[in-house]
Amino acid sequence: MPSLKEKKTDLLFWKNAYLKEFTAKVIAVLEKGIVLDQTLFYPRGGGQPSDKGWLWIEGDKEHKFKVVSVIKTKEGIVHQLANSPPQKLKDKQVLGTIDWNRRYALMRAHSSQHLFSAMIVKFAGIETQKADIREKEVKIHLEQSIPEEVLQKAFIETNKVIQSNKTITANHFSVATLPIDIEKKLRGDLETKGKEVRIVSITGIDQSLCGGIHCKTTGEIGFIFLSDFKGETIAYSLGSFAINDFAQANIDLIACAKMLAAQPTEVRSRIKTLVEERDELEREKREISQIGLTCLIQRLKEAPIKKDRVRIFTENFEFAEREYVLKSLGGLPDNSLFVFVVKGPLLLVLSTIPELSAKELINEFIEETGTKGGGSPKIAQAAVEEPNRAIKVITKIIEKRL
Ligand SMILES: [Zn+2]
Repeated sequence: MPSLKEKKTDLLFWKNAYLKEFTAKVIAVLEKGIVLDQTLFYPRGGGQPSDKGWLWIEGDKEHKFKVVSVIKTKEGIVHQLANSPPQKLKDKQVLGTIDWNRRYALMRAHSSQHLFSAMIVKFAGIETQKADIREKEVKIHLEQSIPEEVLQKAFIETNKVIQSNKTITANHFSVATLPIDIEKKLRGDLETKGKEVRIVSITGIDQSLCGGIHCKTTGEIGFIFLSDFKGETIAYSLGSFAINDFAQANIDLIACAKMLAAQPTEVRSRIKTLVEERDELEREKREISQIGLTCLIQRLKEAPIKKDRVRIFTENFEFAEREYVLKSLGGLPDNSLFVFVVKGPLLLVLSTIPELSAKELINEFIEETGTKGGGSPKIAQAAVEEPNRAIKVITKIIEKRL
């Protein structure tokens, strides 16, 4: 008979996953929590978060201890309490209750994950690397990305199996006597496990090595709804959360269809076309603004403000990206000073005048306006709020130095 123990603690949640209350004896009081001789609290593990709930000394329900987390440690299964546990708890008989709504949601979520992972293996031959199981949402991380059409098949089949209400069981086996038909179909790596294994089976569908807690039938899962899939990661909601998500998505889809004057089934292709058109327009816009900018700069170069030997160019290009302006400028003429405002807005100073450092000019500008910036003697910049005022301020600074 396999032991249902973890160090000194009997694992009641493995004997009956549907119990909500239990009694136990406190066998150790540690700084981080207490250890019990038996527990219904599932400790965090296998992608399933731990249970939460309450413990109290028999006959003293008024003074409950809140269990915030349960973890496996080398001292055993530790029930972490909201406040550090009092020594008086040692050897006391306690009663406990788990947060059943949370636990039941996690059981159903965990079972749904086994089922969905099994369907992904069936249709795509892709194994699950790890899973994050939460009350409202499950994330499955696959060993490789799954094509959309195969995922769709696995998703549909998972909901079908949920509806067909298959039985889910958990059994302990010794590795040495594990029936060959079970071993062959098992998901999970036997070699990394000890002499004894726990196998969770969905009748006729899946057999997995797992220490987590599951519901008795697939029907209890409810329904699953894909909330996202990207590369190797799939996210979905389940049960009443899935029903709400489905209703919202359905309403949103119809609203989108109306906006596009299309049928709901046409929305995807219409949006795809719109996105392609937008990308094309963006590309054209970039080309046009590049041409426009090149023309503007050319005009500027032909009509500079001349002062002694140097030429100063001042312009507000706050619609254009910094890189665009630099590219359009090409090579800088000697003994020139360019002062631009570019997108940001940023004040950009470029200098080919040895005695007029862009960095020093910007530093003085920063001092005067209290903004941030920096750069080198040839190119420097600062953040600005009002482009035209910034140009006036920097022009004064330049004039002072000439
Ligand atoms: Zn599991």
